Amino acid sequence: DSVFASIVQAPEDPILGVTVAYNKDQSPVKVNLGVGAYRTEEGKPLVLNVVRRAEQSLVNDRSRVKEYLPITGLADFNRSSAKLIFGANSPAIQEKRVATVQCLSGTGSLRVGSEFLAKHYHQRTIYIPLPTWGNHPKIFGMAGLSVSTYRYYDPATRGLDFQGLLEDLGAAPSGAIVLLHACAHNPTGVDPTLDQWEKIRQLMRSKGLLPFFDSAYQGFASGSLDADAESVRMFVADGGECLAAQSYAKNMGLYGERVGALSIVCKAADVASRVESQLKLVIRPMYSNPPIHGASIVATILNDRELYNEWTIELKAMADRIITMRYQLFDALTARGTPGDWSHIIKQIGMFTFTGLNKEQVAFMTREYHIYMTSDGRISMAGLSSRTVPHLADAIHAAVT
Ligand code: PLP
Repeated sequence: DSVFASIVQAPEDPILGVTVAYNKDQSPVKVNLGVGAYRTEEGKPLVLNVVRRAEQSLVNDRSRVKEYLPITGLADFNRSSAKLIFGANSPAIQEKRVATVQCLSGTGSLRVGSEFLAKHYHQRTIYIPLPTWGNHPKIFGMAGLSVSTYRYYDPATRGLDFQGLLEDLGAAPSGAIVLLHACAHNPTGVDPTLDQWEKIRQLMRSKGLLPFFDSAYQGFASGSLDADAESVRMFVADGGECLAAQSYAKNMGLYGERVGALSIVCKAADVASRVESQLKLVIRPMYSNPPIHGASIVATILNDRELYNEWTIELKAMADRIITMRYQLFDALTARGTPGDWSHIIKQIGMFTFTGLNKEQVAFMTREYHIYMTSDGRISMAGLSSRTVPHLADAIHAAVT
């Protein structure tokens, strides 16, 4: 008998499991709106032209070798990543107060950051929004932090529960870590306004709460890299400390390359340098050093003015197509006279719409219409096309009537 015979079958991941179920479905009309990956109008994955160009130049450069990167990753990549999120003229960067390390996409950056906090920070409690990306509580729990929640989404308005958020953060113990989605909150698509961000900042700074930004959608939400980093930059501008986890999965379409960065903004250069030395001790036994290929693509694009400009244009095109899908779906429901207020579809931002459909309605749509989505009613707008919008609208209409 196997020594592993008593192992029980683990459940599928609630998000990735949607794709597993979709792949098993033989229906020609099936639509996958589960996973957060961009699709073209033809429903195909997209490799950005600028990524192809950067990759080509890397391949053609025979001086490039496959040696190990340092534990902290590619230095050019780290420098450009910090500039991208904090702004090219950020005083924190100029004053060398930022420790940046290349990590395995957004997930790996969150994990390294939280392992570091669990080991070196005096407060082990992290507050995450309710709801949030399903992997957040698992990542932070595994790292040894204790996870609490703060109110974020109000189902009644399908908007931000700003009062609840302020109350919960106001009641958090001094020094607690607070996970903030930099933009395009997943799964709700609901972000604070700049005015609300400013109030959150004031409250958090007055209580000494430590901001940990998750930036998985910079440029993807509004189409502007600067606008989508505004929240983070407000917190850095006040001279205080924070962490930021960046992912290039969505905004450069580098999902499987696993490219990301963790930055820790400190109050002084000598602190940042000691923080970096400790980050290396977190990374070394975990995966030794990060992969070279994806980071080289990103560094090539970020360090070349022409490639950078081409990237911003392609990024805006992805963001715009998603916004167009919002309007098409909203119009299709309006045309069908589907009961209820669906204006949140065009108000929410980023990759997802938090439809407000419940578990039973989602199950109905999957069963009867072969539409795959997470059971919380979240749909990936990036997976929609003009061709599939009518089918989705029919399914939603049938589910609520
Ligand atoms: N954070 C949020 C809010 C996300 O939605 C995602 C991806 O879905 C990630 C982080 C991390 O993704 P990755 O590890 O692929 O960069």
